[in-house]
Amino acid sequence: MISGQPVDARRVAAALGGRSVVLVGMMGAGKTSVGKRLAAKLGLPFVDADAEIEAGAQLTIAEIFERFGEAYFRDGERRVIARLLNSGPQVLATGGGAFMNKTTRDTIAAHGVSIWLKPDVEVLLARVRKKSNRPLLQTDDPEKTLRRLLYERSPTYALADITIESRDGPHDVVVEIALSRLAEALCRDAEAGAYGRRKVEVPLGPRAYSILIGPGIIDEAGAEIMRIAPGAKCAIVTDANVAPLYLGRLTASLEKAGLRASAIVCLPGEATKSYAEFARVSDALIEARIERRDVVVALGGGVIGDLTGFCAASLRRGVRFVQVPTTLLSQVDSSVGGKTGINSAYGKNLVGAFHQPVLVLADSSSLDTLSRREFRAGYAEVVKYGLLGDRNFFEFLEARWREVFSGGPARSEAIATSCAAKARVVAADETEQGLRALLNLGHTFGHAFESLTHYDSARLVHGEGVAIGMAAAFRFSRHLGFCSGQDAARVEAHLKTVGLPTRIRDIPGLNAGAENILLAMRQDKKVERGRLTFILAKGVGESFIARDVEEASVLTFLREEVQLRPD
Ligand code: NAD
Repeated sequence: MISGQPVDARRVAAALGGRSVVLVGMMGAGKTSVGKRLAAKLGLPFVDADAEIEAGAQLTIAEIFERFGEAYFRDGERRVIARLLNSGPQVLATGGGAFMNKTTRDTIAAHGVSIWLKPDVEVLLARVRKKSNRPLLQTDDPEKTLRRLLYERSPTYALADITIESRDGPHDVVVEIALSRLAEALCRDAEAGAYGRRKVEVPLGPRAYSILIGPGIIDEAGAEIMRIAPGAKCAIVTDANVAPLYLGRLTASLEKAGLRASAIVCLPGEATKSYAEFARVSDALIEARIERRDVVVALGGGVIGDLTGFCAASLRRGVRFVQVPTTLLSQVDSSVGGKTGINSAYGKNLVGAFHQPVLVLADSSSLDTLSRREFRAGYAEVVKYGLLGDRNFFEFLEARWREVFSGGPARSEAIATSCAAKARVVAADETEQGLRALLNLGHTFGHAFESLTHYDSARLVHGEGVAIGMAAAFRFSRHLGFCSGQDAARVEAHLKTVGLPTRIRDIPGLNAGAENILLAMRQDKKVERGRLTFILAKGVGESFIARDVEEASVLTFLREEVQLRPD
C-alpha cells in the first residue's frame, strides 16, 4: 500500500471489524494526544486507561504507587484494560508498563490492533522533564532511569502489531502515519481497495458460490444476502456460545438491509448433530414459515453448519442456505463443499446430504473469541492444505503462523488459500467419487485416535487427531520409502511449534496397541470394502492417494508409532 495516497479513515474503521486500536509505549510518547486525534478520525471513542484507573480509585497514579505499591497498581491496570477492551471498539491509550504484562498483551491481541509509539529518546526526555509526577521517575537520576526503562522495555513493545517512530513532529502527522499503517496492516489487497478482504469462488456451475473472507464481514451479511436473495425471510441457526457474541450483529446487519430475521439457538457441542435437534430445528424453520425463496443462515462452527445445512437440504426438498462460519475449522473446511449431516448411534456423519450453500461469509475477526485450543485444532486443517499440494503455502505458514494466530492480514490470507485449495478439490469431485479423498490427509489415523478416545474432547479434539495423523502419515510415507526423513521431521516440527500434538503418546491416557488402532481404522466409514486407503506423501506439498495398502506394513509401522515417546 498506499504511501502517498490519502487514507480513508472510515474504511480503516470498517476494516477494524469491531476491534480497538491500542496505543502502547513509554510515558511521554504522545499516546494521549495522538490517541485523541486518531479516535476522532476513526469515529471511535478515545479512552485513557490511566485516567480510568485514577477515576476508579479516586487517587492519582502517583498516589496509588505511593500507598499500595507497583504490583497492586499493575494488577488493577490489567483488570481495567480487560474491562475497557471488552466494552467495544475504541482507541485506547495504555500506561507505559501495561504492555509488559503478558496477560494484558494477550487481551490486547484478542481485541485490538496494537501500535507502539516509539519515541526518539531525546524528545522523550524533553517531554518527560516538563512533567515531573511520573512515579517510576522519582529517582536520583530520572534521565538514566528513563533510558534504562526504554532499553528494557523496547523488545516487548516491539511485539506490537505496528511500530511508529514518533518524532517531535506535529501529532497530526503521527496520526496520518498511524492511519496509513493501520490500512496497510489490515489491507491485503490495496489495489482492489478491499481492506483485509478476500474472495474465493467455488466453481460448481449452477451451484457455484462465493466465499467472502475478512474482518468484520458479519456486519455486511445483510447487504451480501440481499444481493442474492432480495426480500428473503432469514432464519438464523446458531449455538448458545456463539449467540451472545455474534447473533446481535448478524441480526442487525440483516435488518439494516431490510431482511426479516428470526433465530433458533441450539446447545453447543457435537451432541447437537442428532436426530432430535434435526427434528426440532426443522420444525422451528417450518414454524418460522421459511419457504423455498427464503434463506437459512448457519452462524457457528462445523456442528451448526452441518446440522443447519442438512435441515436446509431436507426442508421443502431444499431451501437456500448461507454459511457464516465462526471457527477456524469451519471457515477453512466444513463450510465449503456442501457436505451436511448429523450423527447416528452407529457413527459420525452417517446421515446427511450434499447441499451446497449459496454464500459463505467467513469473518476472520470472529476467530478472536475462539479458545486457543479450538483455533489450533482448526489450524491443523490449514496446514493440511500446504502439505497436500502447496509447498509454498506450507512455507508461508512456517514463516507467518504467529500472524495467523494473532489476527493480522496473514490470517485472511491463510483462510483464503485454504478455501481456494478446498474449492479446487470440490470442483473436481463434488460428491467424493475419488480425488476428494485427498482432503483426508491425516484423517485415517486421526479418526482412529478419536474413536479410541471415545470422542472425548477433553482428551482429543478432531484437529489434534488430524495433526497427529498428518505427522504419522508423513512418518508412514518415510517408512514406506516415499518421502525423506527430513520432510517428515519438518512437518512434525511445524505442528509442534504451534502447540499441536504429533505423536500417539501425546494423547492423554491412550494405551492402545497397534492391533487396536488398526481395528479402529478398519471401522472408519472411509474404508471401502475392507481396503485401507491412506493419503501418503512424496514430500511437503506432494500428497497422493494410496489404496490397498498392505495390512502387514501398517501393523509394523503402528508398532513403531506406539513406542514413539513424546518429544
Ligand atoms: P463446533 O461447531 O463444535 O465449535 C467448537 C466450539 O466453539 C463450540 O463450543 C462452539 O460453540 C464454539 N464457538 C464457535 N465459534 C466461536 C467463536 N467465534 N468464539 C467462541 N466460541 C465459538 O466445532 P468445529 O470444530 O467448528 O466443527 C466440528 C464439526 O465439523 C464436527 O461435527 C465435524 O464432523 C464437522 N466437519 C464437517 C465437515 C464438512 O465437510 N461438512 C468437515 C470437517 C468437519
